Amino acid sequence: MSKTIAVIPGDGIGPEIMTATLRVLDALDCGLSYDFVDAGMVALEKHGDLLPKATLDRIAEHKVALKGPLTTPIGGGFTSVNVTLRRHFDLYANVRPAVSFPGTRSRYENIDIITVRENTEGAYRSEGQTLSEDGEIAESVARNTRKGSSRIVRYAFELAVKKGRKKVTAVHKANILKTSSGLFLNVAREIAREYPQIEFNEMIVDNTCMQLVMNPYQFDVIVTTNLFGDILSDLCAGLVGGLGLAPGDNIGEGAAIFEAVHGSAPDIAGKGIANPCALLLAAADMLDHLDMVAKGDRLRQAIRDTMTNDRDSVTPDLGGKGSTSSFADAIVKRLAA
Ligand code: NAD
Repeated sequence: MSKTIAVIPGDGIGPEIMTATLRVLDALDCGLSYDFVDAGMVALEKHGDLLPKATLDRIAEHKVALKGPLTTPIGGGFTSVNVTLRRHFDLYANVRPAVSFPGTRSRYENIDIITVRENTEGAYRSEGQTLSEDGEIAESVARNTRKGSSRIVRYAFELAVKKGRKKVTAVHKANILKTSSGLFLNVAREIAREYPQIEFNEMIVDNTCMQLVMNPYQFDVIVTTNLFGDILSDLCAGLVGGLGLAPGDNIGEGAAIFEAVHGSAPDIAGKGIANPCALLLAAADMLDHLDMVAKGDRLRQAIRDTMTNDRDSVTPDLGGKGSTSSFADAIVKRLAA
């Protein structure tokens, strides 16, 4: 079976880690073809637009995209390309797995937490943000809907069922944000009743931060609103050794975009030392999404084996002496073994 995906190489380290990732995907023999499309600084230079319509059309056509990090120029009134993509394709579920890998410097071992973040509502709506003319009063309106809360909570429970997970924790601040967070919590309680086989609990967001640091093993799947999910998923990435190992899946009804959580890392761009693992793990999640779960698992295992046994080949951020390409070469060798 052959499937074409849209590929956005991205800015900064994007092209380096994308080249490495596609080489590994080819070694997995997934039958994928790549349709390269422009977005970010490359697109601005070539087409005068950070996100050309042709790029949106091709993602819509293929329904699945693998995306490198994009730089949003500061100043000049540019809207983040990432936010625009999420809105355009209504990518309401942002799924961020945080899994421990061997040989990384981190506080805990054997962490395996999935954060499911609502990606389109809450405090992140630009329409709800105003500043008075005299600059004295800033307002930010969080807007959650029953529909938006229902679909994200349902997504989290369905993911838990599909992946054989045991527990879903709804994280909120309904004691203070009585309407926006209260609606989300009520909906979460309602939907939880439909999944008696999955344990459900609820936790206030500030306590969740402390509990994650004190005893992360009590968490399995976390579902929460946009802002809390943004913060908690980075906290979880920190628990397993940082952003170099954190994939982010943006899922909607009509399209899905898989990416690394980290940015374009301009400080190391062009040096050949960027860690390709976050994008590789996003590619593994993409294979799951394309019903190639065994291939996704094989890729995760090859990354794990490489990090355990081929320490010299891994990139400096993981304590190795290797490069982006030596890391990819070692993973390809493991896949061939
Ligand atoms: P960043 O994630 O690019 O970099 C933070 C630090 O982590 C840097 O020291 C960098 O060298 C390091 N780092 C990041 N990825 C790495 C990797 N794969 N291997 C080794 N080290 C890595 O964050 P930033 O510097 O705040 O942002 C840079 C640019 O990226 C900004 O323009 C920002 O808007 C953009 N950005 C894009 C996305 C995205 O496209 N999803 C996400 C975050 C930031």
